[in-house]
Amino acid sequence: MYDLPNQRLREYPSQMYPTHYVMKGIYMPINPDSTWGLCMNCQWWQIEPKAAVAEETVGLCIDENLQPYRLSITGSGGCNRFMKGTPAHGEGSSRQPPTAQPMR
Ligand code: SF4
Repeated sequence: MYDLPNQRLREYPSQMYPTHYVMKGIYMPINPDSTWGLCMNCQWWQIEPKAAVAEETVGLCIDENLQPYRLSITGSGGCNRFMKGTPAHGEGSSRQPPTAQPMR
């Protein structure tokens, strides 16, 4: 039987484990043009219109592959789908659960 998670875990050293993959036990494609980075420096992080870009600010991840999860995450979070850029802004990005629509 083909066991993708276990096979992938054996192929890479621990520092290369895709974060979401290991924590959720599911396969999540890795963006080949990106590396791991902080949400506060990522173009897929969306915060309230007047919110500060800071570690403690709560926002919504609008990465296309993660949108179905409505992932609420602070600026100090991060993952390997990081794409360097400035955050988007949308009303409701910090609500629990988030009510904002992706603005990018
Ligand atoms: S969870 Fe990943 S893709 Fe989403 S905003 Fe944070 S670093 Fe970017």
